[in-house]
Amino acid sequence: MTGGDGAGSLVGVFALQGDVAEHVRVLTALGARVRPVRSAADLAGLDGLVIPGGESSVMDKLSRLLGVAPAIRHAIGEGLPVYGTCAGMIMLAEEIANPIVGQQSFGGLDITVQRNAFGGQVESFETALEVPEVSGDPVHAVFIRAPAVLRAGPDVQVLASAPASRSENPEHSSGEVPVAVRQGRLLATSFHPEVTGDWSFHRYFLERVIR
Ligand code: GLN
Repeated sequence: MTGGDGAGSLVGVFALQGDVAEHVRVLTALGARVRPVRSAADLAGLDGLVIPGGESSVMDKLSRLLGVAPAIRHAIGEGLPVYGTCAGMIMLAEEIANPIVGQQSFGGLDITVQRNAFGGQVESFETALEVPEVSGDPVHAVFIRAPAVLRAGPDVQVLASAPASRSENPEHSSGEVPVAVRQGRLLATSFHPEVTGDWSFHRYFLERVIR
């Protein structure tokens, strides 16, 4: 990669399921070289990896069936920078509060997530979030069957929170729930910057997480 600003980085996009094309488009427009990741071999030489929004239980099944899951776990352990959006956040979580039977994640990020915490497809919503670490302007965020962070470990930095009243979980009846977190080289958002035209999180990933 070049000079530390992330442009020219080789970034993989997990491509077995989810909104792969949207991430490819944003990352390419920001100057990254992009490679779809479907096998362990596709991870070789990457500067970073993006796990898109989609359906985490399907991502889990396919990645184990096709044998790429252990390689992604290993790469996370070795310090590969990874950005997960929505289902991608769930794949990075150490713990899923409400998995489907047998559902596993890649893990690495010391959080517990609740899938579909803000309701189903029809309860999808958009909002503007203050994320000072990432952008001087409010970040336009779209939540679609989004997960919430129920627990964040001591090494997890909360970058943004959303009003808990949006959440279905009675434990969230007041205050705010984290919806964007970072732990070292792992970045995750409950929402989908890849579909909004607000590229501040992708820029942050390329420029500040991939160094
Ligand atoms: N609810 C989905 C899941 O559990 C995530 C939805 C999304 O990525 N928009 O994987």
